[in-house]
Amino acid sequence: GCGICPKRCPFGAITIINLPTNLESQITHRYSANSFKLHRLPMPRPGNVLGLVGTNGIGKSTALKILSGKLKPNLGRYDNPPDWEDVIKYFRGSELQNYFTKLLEDDLKAVVKPQYVDQIPRAIRTPDKSVKTLIEGRVTMENLDEVLDTLELRHIYDRDVTHLSGGELQRFAIGTVCVQKADVYMFDEPSSYLDVKQRLSAARIIRSLLRPDDYVIVVEHDLSVLDYLSDYVCVLYGQPAVYGVVTLPYSVREGINIFLDGHIPTENLRFREESLTFRIAEGTEDFVAEHTRAFRYPTMEKTLGNFKLRVDAGSFSDSEIIVMMGENGTGKTTFCRLLAGVLKPDGTQKVPEMKISMKPQTITPKFEGTVRQLFFKKIRAAFLSPQFQTDVVKPLKLDDFIDQEVKNLSGGELQRVAIVLALGMPADIYVIDEPSAYLDSEQRIVASRVIKRFIMHAKKTAFIVEHDFIMATYLADRVIVFDGQPGINAHANKPESLLTGCNTFLKNLDVTFRRDPTNYRPRINKLNSQLDQEQKLSGNYSPRR
Ligand code: ADP
Ligand code: ADP
Ligand code: MG
Ligand code: MG
Repeated sequence: GCGICPKRCPFGAITIINLPTNLESQITHRYSANSFKLHRLPMPRPGNVLGLVGTNGIGKSTALKILSGKLKPNLGRYDNPPDWEDVIKYFRGSELQNYFTKLLEDDLKAVVKPQYVDQIPRAIRTPDKSVKTLIEGRVTMENLDEVLDTLELRHIYDRDVTHLSGGELQRFAIGTVCVQKADVYMFDEPSSYLDVKQRLSAARIIRSLLRPDDYVIVVEHDLSVLDYLSDYVCVLYGQPAVYGVVTLPYSVREGINIFLDGHIPTENLRFREESLTFRIAEGTEDFVAEHTRAFRYPTMEKTLGNFKLRVDAGSFSDSEIIVMMGENGTGKTTFCRLLAGVLKPDGTQKVPEMKISMKPQTITPKFEGTVRQLFFKKIRAAFLSPQFQTDVVKPLKLDDFIDQEVKNLSGGELQRVAIVLALGMPADIYVIDEPSAYLDSEQRIVASRVIKRFIMHAKKTAFIVEHDFIMATYLADRVIVFDGQPGINAHANKPESLLTGCNTFLKNLDVTFRRDPTNYRPRINKLNSQLDQEQKLSGNYSPRR
């Protein structure tokens, strides 16, 4: 055991195989008696982007608050907090001593993009809440034009922030940070609500902030974005809501692989029993699908206000997952609703009637009662089936909050409930709109596996909208690429193979991918790197399986 946990962790969810023995003397912060404890801290280095990766509730935002100087670390002494002098003394000999000394003595200016952008409108007290006024009020650098272009803020520049969508708010929040001259830049989960193109643009503008002696720190759950953004990575592991431990800094590839593997080779330390891989071939022969049914939908058009979507006719079969790839505003959700029969196409075209179960993009809980009561009401049969319990409910760890009121759940908990509800309905076609939203990187991988296994075993079809490229390529048997002008005139291509679909999609984005040789996760090539240029020349934008 580690002194905190015996070998089998008393909290049950994770088996801690072995932990460092000296953790008790390495508490950086504890909120109060019996509350969450953070052990150690990430070490920022000037002129580098530090990425943080770890499960929800493991202390990432806490670490950012400490490194920004907003939260004075109490070294575990919540009842008798040390002063800054003692804190600096505690970190003597490490890079953190240098960092905190600078933070205090040189008055380093730290700016933070907060995790919960939805709360921004309420927090703004000024009478003029326009994007323009709020951003321009912060400008202390000369990159405003670049920021507005890269983050696509021009067309919403005069809008009131209270009217922005999630993705628009996110870009506004990132933009507000990027126009400021500061010494420390922090971005807490910048990719939420953004599509792949916007995620890459955000990553590029964040990297453009790097100067030889400033610091950039990013918390991110989309592993391909984290990979692209960071120069090095600290992993956080432990027991969510109980304690978190920060590892030493690793190279990006090494750090992400450690996180996925659940094992730190240099310390001979295992913090998760199973490793997470993206290899499809291994042990998944039962995924080699036999297609026995065929479905078709016709060429369709749908007009919604100023927006027009054209859909090419397509067909699909059972035991198949089709992932929809495209920018925000190109009609992916509209297409889902056409399939589900919630919207009717223009004219006389008809979508054949199919039994559809849909997980909507936005989840607003109105149910009065607990998660268990909700399942008993809506998906009783599935919920009582041992197979469904083993394949879906258990891996998504719903037991942790099954008896809580639905109304009090966090975003990530609600998302998992919504996935279970959708899969628990008897249907031929499962339409799942953005399953990764609010999930951490580990939950995303688990959710992808659950969905894939369920669809293949039940011999059903799924249509999935997904912006996390690692999830999207893991899930997809085929893809539908959406193109055109977002919000105005868009087009859904017919379903095509993962290889050709990804190629088209990535070519539009001017991005190439490769696969990590260890765990097969897709990695974005740095722009104009040798591999990037070679792949573009040969037309191989996306990695082969
Ligand atoms: P992450 O960003 O990795 O999801 P956080 O750093 O936000 O995690 O939180 C880690 C743990 O600390 C959580 O269990 C959270 O509930 C708890 N926590 C966060 N802020 C406070 C606080 N002000 N008081 C008590 N507990 C807190
Ligand atoms: P995606 O899911 O690809 O982001 P959506 O299908 O949600 O795109 O929306 C496509 C476009 O249609 C967006 O510009 C959206 O604002 C617009 N839109 C959606 N519903 C309506 C509606 N009821 N009236 C007018 N415009 C709409
Ligand atoms: Mg957080
Ligand atoms: Mg959508």
